[in-house]
Amino acid sequence: MKFNEFDFKEELIAGLRDIGYTDPTPIQEQTIPIILDKKDIIGAAQTGTGKTGAFVIPVIQQILENPSEQTQALILSPTRELAQQIDEQIFALGYHTGISSATIIGGEDFGQQAKAIRSGVDIIVATPGRLIDQTKVLDIDFSHIKFLVLDEADRMLDMGFLPDVTKIIKKLPEKRQTMLFSATMPNAIKELANRFMDNPEKVEIAIEKPSGSITQQAYFVNQKEKLALVQDVLDDMKWDSCIIFCATKRGVDELERLLQKKGIKAGSIHGDRDQDERNKSLHEFKSGQVPLIVATDVLARGIDIANVSLIINYDVPRAVDDYVHRIGRTGRYDKTGTAITFVNKKDRRAFSAIQDKVGDQLEMLKVEDSSGTQKPNSSKEKEVKEKEKQKERTHQSDQKKKKETKSDKTMKQLSKKEIEKRNNKVQNLDSVEVILREDKIASKKHELNRKERKQSSNKDSSSKSTNDKSSSKRNEPVIPAERIKKATKRNQNAPKPAKGLWGLIKSLFS
Ligand code: AMP
Repeated sequence: MKFNEFDFKEELIAGLRDIGYTDPTPIQEQTIPIILDKKDIIGAAQTGTGKTGAFVIPVIQQILENPSEQTQALILSPTRELAQQIDEQIFALGYHTGISSATIIGGEDFGQQAKAIRSGVDIIVATPGRLIDQTKVLDIDFSHIKFLVLDEADRMLDMGFLPDVTKIIKKLPEKRQTMLFSATMPNAIKELANRFMDNPEKVEIAIEKPSGSITQQAYFVNQKEKLALVQDVLDDMKWDSCIIFCATKRGVDELERLLQKKGIKAGSIHGDRDQDERNKSLHEFKSGQVPLIVATDVLARGIDIANVSLIINYDVPRAVDDYVHRIGRTGRYDKTGTAITFVNKKDRRAFSAIQDKVGDQLEMLKVEDSSGTQKPNSSKEKEVKEKEKQKERTHQSDQKKKKETKSDKTMKQLSKKEIEKRNNKVQNLDSVEVILREDKIASKKHELNRKERKQSSNKDSSSKSTNDKSSSKRNEPVIPAERIKKATKRNQNAPKPAKGLWGLIKSLFS
């Protein structure tokens, strides 16, 4: 289907042509006819599918069919950036139509926004909090609103906007068309729909799973080594622009500082920055002046930035949905991209939930330790491994007990001590096993493993081969140890050996 098969106004067709939309995306193809039919709609579509156009195009068409001096459409968005982006699409698509719009968002000039509302712009795009603030000061006449769009509705509820959204909806005329878009459909969204929508039609496009155009990978990595690994990934991969997501605002500030210290040009964005700073960072990133931006989840939802080819989850997102949204910043529409997640020990539980959801799409990159032993892949595997070891230890001590005679008493005490010592070593090793790479620990472990293997019975080797088999079955790619070492080494300030004759003399006498 082509856009020119719709009966769109010439001015709108010109806008579509300007921005290069010829064919509607699947969500647009399904949604636009329903909206033009004046029905309520719930659109569940993954991010990057052309969701914004799915409501902006038919809303513009309907305003063109019935122009008015009053505001006709209200679009609510969870974040300021998303609101601005929707407004940009309205501007681009409506360029030849004379349709006006305004963003009513926090951090921007309150008075200017009040003026825009009073002037009766055709479309208001707002974040709920700021719109409520405006209603406290202005006597806003919502009685002409015919179209209400709730974009990223699940995110709005996650962010605690339900009371504000409810207050706003109650001010609107009951006779209106409501369009709700949400990546996920938790019960709270269904309740909202039941309360405020009139027999909505449902359109669902591959919900909750990230786009197949995104290569997803994850590394198990020690927190201390994340920075070095970022540098390694940035050095080794081909990328145009990259977003690094951190869990906290402080984490964003810190990582930006550390990257800059390493000479990596990076911008940053989070909710504590004032709006001018946020706009500046986003603009510099979008325009390609700064190819890398460090962000909190404020940049995870709906933000459309061309050519983001790499996403790094420096911290594992707490919720699976956030993961889907973060990585959805790449591989948008017809592009491909890569998303890499760094998983440390404390993130494993959150990561398991992500694996459960997208497991078959997610490629595990495991770090090999210096002894060549694979790390356990999950806490479950680790548990199994630990049980096997415990069994082995019990078996060994049982065997020894059987062989003991009275004359072996001194020997018995000795071997008991020896077993205890060895068990301690094994336990110590197990506690470090989950911590990936510290060269010192790794080589110590290697040494102990070697001794351990020498002393242990044939059974030991059979249990190891079971583990080996299970990991080779998964056919997981492995990051060579040298790669991590290379990254770790970059952090070391080891004194460099003296060069030249003096160096040679020094080395001869050292
Ligand atoms: P969205 O999901 O609305 O953020 O859109 C994702 C990307 O797809 C944006 O870069 C849009 O400009 C682009 N896009 C949306 N609709 C179309 C279309 N019909 N043809 C080509 N690109 C589109």
